[in-house]
Amino acid sequence: MPEREPSGGSELNETERVDKEHVFGTWSFQKDVSPTQVVDADGAQFTTADGGQYVDFSSQLMCSNLGHSADAVIDAVEEQMRKAAYVSPGYTTDARAKLGKKLAEVTPGDLSKTFFSTSGTEAVEAAIKIARFYTGKQKVVSRYRSYHGATYGSISVTGDPRRLPAEPGIPGTIKAPDPYAYGSTLDPMESVEYIDEMLELEGDTVAAILVEPIVGSNGILVPPDEYLPRLKEIAHDHGALLICDEVMSGFGRTGEWFGCDVFDVEPDIMTMAKGLTGAYQPLGATIVTSEIAEHFEENMFCHGHTYSGHPAAVAAGLATIETYQKENLIDRANEMGGYVGERIEELAADHPSVGETRGVGLFRGIELSRRADERVPFGTRSDKISSGSTVVDEVAATAKENGAYVANMINTLIIAPPLTITKDEVDTAIDALNAGLAVSDAAMD
Ligand code: PMP
Repeated sequence: MPEREPSGGSELNETERVDKEHVFGTWSFQKDVSPTQVVDADGAQFTTADGGQYVDFSSQLMCSNLGHSADAVIDAVEEQMRKAAYVSPGYTTDARAKLGKKLAEVTPGDLSKTFFSTSGTEAVEAAIKIARFYTGKQKVVSRYRSYHGATYGSISVTGDPRRLPAEPGIPGTIKAPDPYAYGSTLDPMESVEYIDEMLELEGDTVAAILVEPIVGSNGILVPPDEYLPRLKEIAHDHGALLICDEVMSGFGRTGEWFGCDVFDVEPDIMTMAKGLTGAYQPLGATIVTSEIAEHFEENMFCHGHTYSGHPAAVAAGLATIETYQKENLIDRANEMGGYVGERIEELAADHPSVGETRGVGLFRGIELSRRADERVPFGTRSDKISSGSTVVDEVAATAKENGAYVANMINTLIIAPPLTITKDEVDTAIDALNAGLAVSDAAMD
């Protein structure tokens, strides 16, 4: 593929060129990597070195939930860094204790004790280990259309094609079908009953079922209301735990605190990152019920990192959650999500290449189709691990030329703006998407 031009269509500048030479681009053929230098970010917008200004319609990697200028979080981090930049996990800080308590309050049910790490990947790694230690069983059932992280455990439970180069991965991982009415041959509720049958056939060996309550990067898949309650029942019927990976769906994204709140389900273990600090600091968290926590009173919690509960990161987490609360941002996500949903429906009505729109709150997807009535995708799962750009990439690139950054994966555009986005910014981004979707319309068979 020709080197993708940076925003504005100019050559790579000196910073971008040096970066490309010396820094690995993630999940890419390195020849395809074309880093764009960001020089400023404010609210729901960011500016690149060549003067390009963009509405951030995907919160970067669906993580900048507070936008880019949350002073309360910046101040909390600075204050902590000046007090004590780092203490080892055997010591604590005011923010660490308060954030632990706060997470017990905002998460559903009896989730009460948290392990802190530095990423979503590590939050999932911890969840897998905890489930195995607690149940004494080894297997983890997760689904094909899922992403749970990059290291060996979390990539092994990931279903999307990025797992393939890392296979066979860790032992004891099993993939199940997805609640994906648009693109799968199984009806979502049939798929969940199939998982019941899978657990039956596995005997008493499954430690946990791990799912994103609403699938994020693999296409914003929202299951029917009865799906997650039934999945929890199936897990418990077979002596397995339900782990909800809320790394992307947590912290207001769905118009509720967590994706599982949309379905009134309390998981046994929940993983968090991204919106936990609104991406102001790297922080992952794995919270468990008091019953699971109790198990580790007399059994070793054999896990930890140098940066578990890093003072600056937990200070950011605490200030971020306080900001969601003070500024009523969860309700705001719900309201603004309604507006974004309406505007997306207008796009769908105008563009035949829109196959399906899905989502809740500020967590929405536009799936494209080459032949709308036949659900033929432009982008396929294998594109994810191959070189070159797809029509879906070109739709996103055109939206960017028109002033909005919109993430895309496989065959879906991912709309997940900061919870603070304004209506005017939504309108700018929708106009940009309107221009982008003309590209997929023109590419239809
Ligand atoms: N789980 C989910 C649901 C995610 O979306 C991601 C990241 N996109 C991860 C885990 C891994 O998080 P991180 O990139 O912070 O390691």
